[in-house]
Amino acid sequence: MKHRILSTAIITSTIAAVFAAGWQFGHSSKPIISNAQAAGGVVTSPTASVPDRYVYYPGTEALAKEEIRVTACGTGLPAARRSQAATCFLIEPGNGDKFLFDIGTGSMANLAAMMIPYEYLDKVFLSHLYTDHMGDILGLWAGGWTAGRPNALRVWGPSGTTPEMGTKYAMDSFLQFVNWDKVTREYKITPIPGKVETNEFDYKIPNQIVYEENGVTIRSFPAIHAGDGPVSYSLEYAGMKVVFSGDTVPNKWFVEYAKNADLVIHEAFQTPQQLVDFCNQPPQLAWRTCCEFHTSPQAFGKVMSSVQPRHAVAFHFFNEEGTRYGIYEGIRETYSGPLSMATDMMVWNITKDKITERMAQSTDEAWSVPGTAKQLPPENGRPNPTTTFIDAGRWEPGFRAQDQMLDGHMQKYNLKDQDWRPKMYEKMEGG
Ligand SMILES: [Zn+2]
Repeated sequence: MKHRILSTAIITSTIAAVFAAGWQFGHSSKPIISNAQAAGGVVTSPTASVPDRYVYYPGTEALAKEEIRVTACGTGLPAARRSQAATCFLIEPGNGDKFLFDIGTGSMANLAAMMIPYEYLDKVFLSHLYTDHMGDILGLWAGGWTAGRPNALRVWGPSGTTPEMGTKYAMDSFLQFVNWDKVTREYKITPIPGKVETNEFDYKIPNQIVYEENGVTIRSFPAIHAGDGPVSYSLEYAGMKVVFSGDTVPNKWFVEYAKNADLVIHEAFQTPQQLVDFCNQPPQLAWRTCCEFHTSPQAFGKVMSSVQPRHAVAFHFFNEEGTRYGIYEGIRETYSGPLSMATDMMVWNITKDKITERMAQSTDEAWSVPGTAKQLPPENGRPNPTTTFIDAGRWEPGFRAQDQMLDGHMQKYNLKDQDWRPKMYEKMEGG
């Protein structure tokens, strides 16, 4: 475990510099913290490595048993942009489990950069059914399948006032929407990873256990956002607690069930003025968006002052020079405790002793990382979704051109003369 330690005092006094991201990518403007911390510790010799890194390089750190790592894979708005995807938080307790809380539009690319085998990224908890919280279920479902996930996806989410407003309906309809994709990949790749196992629970029950396995307990409680159905979640592991609001206005359940948690992630929306200036909203809509369906910065601060977390995280705003100061100042009117202004790829490590905030430095060219579980090979005997009419249109010279290369591939992997290859030629016109 190599973490930069941020004490409460340091965070409070330097947050303006820290969240401006200048230090996160090695810019010359450094926050006002001691040299040892800024540099990640003393380098003891010319050949030594930096002893306590302040950057998280995905895939390079083993988690301690009694530790939780949280990564922001999406923190922005429905109109996702390159610098910020829509909502997605990855929570990794030290037992090795991985949980996705929402998987908003654009977040899949950030998730891929975390270098985690897809076999482990199979548990998704949806706070509600807005696309900015589930849009990239598409990418995870199909992308993980093509990248070697051997298992089905498991999705948890709330019911609605009618079956059609619930998670089960959404996921069943999702599988209809992707039917062509599903049927053809089942034939081409292997069928099991295309399955979605949905666990829908009653959105109204406060603090109910919706998941309890391997020392991890996840609970849900109602949230208030645009209609019945949305929930917030808490995750407890090794005596520590992380709470994720999803989208909500300040509500009595959150204040009660997030109390004294270790890391509390709650939405803090753009200010009404920002919605007018940056989102082209009429002023009448701006105040409703900000403050009737979402949580304003001032209200976020009030919630945190009541909840008193060890560390608060504000998300669900585009975090940039034009906006972050207005939101930060609004929060500071009502809350003075430890705070992160979230942006994508921000990482928190939580132990009983300390909570650190870092930025992940990751590759833009991430490949899927192999795990130990192996995807099954294509199933024999599945009906071919391509008809002989279409197959007969394959152009033989194009296929013959790859014969030598494929012979080499089959030889290299000791593949027997499988029946697919002669058949491929048989189907060609005159073949
Ligand atoms: Zn949202």
